[in-house]
Amino acid sequence: MTPEQRTYLEDRLQRMPLGEQLRTPVEGHRFVFMLTNLDGLHTGRSRFLVACETCSQLVHVATTGPVSNVDMHVREANAR
Ligand SMILES: [Zn+2]
Repeated sequence: MTPEQRTYLEDRLQRMPLGEQLRTPVEGHRFVFMLTNLDGLHTGRSRFLVACETCSQLVHVATTGPVSNVDMHVREANAR
């Protein structure tokens, strides 16, 4: 993705409220980003859940930022 898109995504994800969904296309893949506390209750931290709707694939579930995993998914999909 472009540096502009990365900056936009990281900014949106930092301020995203719990339970809200953000849908955005990245290089032809439709990604859905979600912040959930379902799995993070014991740590007190929220988790990002990211899925690619185009490939019907779960891309990322972790408390860390998911943007680099989105890049990796697009690279892997394009290499197929
Ligand atoms: Zn995909």
